[in-house]
Amino acid sequence: MRTVYGRQIWTANGFVENCCVRFEDGQIVAVEKGRAAEDVLDAGDGIVIPGLVDIQVNGALGWSFQAHHRDHFDEIVHYHRRRGTTTLLPTLITAPVETLTTSLRGLADYLDAAPHVTLPGIHLEGPFLSPQKSGAHDPAALRLPDLDIAAEFVTAAGGRISIFTIAPELAGALPVIEWLTAQGILVSAGHTAATYTEMKWAMAAGLSSVTHAGNASDWPHRAPGALGFMASEPGIVGTLLAEPSLTCGVILDGFHFHPALLPPLVTVKGADHVVLVSDASTIAGSPPGYYEGGGIEVTVHEEGFATSGRGGGWLAGSTITLLDAVQRTVELAGLPLHTAVHMATLAPARLLGLHTRKGNLAPGCDADLLVLNPDLSLRHVIVRGEVVP
Ligand SMILES: [Zn+2]
Repeated sequence: MRTVYGRQIWTANGFVENCCVRFEDGQIVAVEKGRAAEDVLDAGDGIVIPGLVDIQVNGALGWSFQAHHRDHFDEIVHYHRRRGTTTLLPTLITAPVETLTTSLRGLADYLDAAPHVTLPGIHLEGPFLSPQKSGAHDPAALRLPDLDIAAEFVTAAGGRISIFTIAPELAGALPVIEWLTAQGILVSAGHTAATYTEMKWAMAAGLSSVTHAGNASDWPHRAPGALGFMASEPGIVGTLLAEPSLTCGVILDGFHFHPALLPPLVTVKGADHVVLVSDASTIAGSPPGYYEGGGIEVTVHEEGFATSGRGGGWLAGSTITLLDAVQRTVELAGLPLHTAVHMATLAPARLLGLHTRKGNLAPGCDADLLVLNPDLSLRHVIVRGEVVP
């Protein structure tokens, strides 16, 4: 039996004070008042929160999950874990079908060997995306949705795809959405120019989420309507506001999604339906400079954002980790720490159906927890009851 004692401990219902999290064999057995007598890690003035759950991680330190080297996968997983992300979905972006199939096969093998559901599945972001919203994806590798190709991906991944991002307005998308949903895969709209009407059709087919809302997807705007006048079109962000059942990911790095708009989004949707993601790209953790090779051409700027090519005007994924997003949700968006933590732990765990095991400090959950300093910087990472060195 081991115990972490903290002045403030996050629970789903709020912070509790002067409590212990007790765990045994890597699992939480109790969260209780007071202080245990033995084998205590005293967090002192620290804040104890669940380990973070990131549903969109492409890579770090120049390595991507698109590559085929287990050592690189280890580097990426360790990089994010040391910074507080204890559960993550490796994410693959658009590439030629054969390349993706090979990547999925390699990644599925890696996941099978990963301990304790630290990597519960794969997020496949592409290649059925809109050419109008391709962002940093290779436009030449985009495809129209196709059932046979989708089935090829699912088979190659050995059933390990958790989230499939698709542009639902593309020809052939609806049967693919229906089929993926029937396989138990969460289908998410992303890199899309879908209208409100097209989103409603996709939702009827099973689509239930939006990938990095407001990025590579439209905000409310005016567009030519069926009756010939410039009508009001909700776009993806407006659809999110109008449809309570939709969940969304948000990249709150200070560049992708304006922080001023996060509090109203959370007010409308509820913190359970807004999931913070890092969307960390291959260059996360790399110093400013220009990087090319391995399919990327990216400039990392001093301020901490990354753009495509040398002077490109498009953001190319983020350079942050999920803990950075939590800190910025408090510092830039002004949301309470409890809400920010919820959106990076319990909300994503619920989206993945893992909430009885991950993203919470409650009996039965894995003893994945973080101790933060009062300034929200990281002091300790504990995975399955062991302090990460
Ligand atoms: Zn994307």
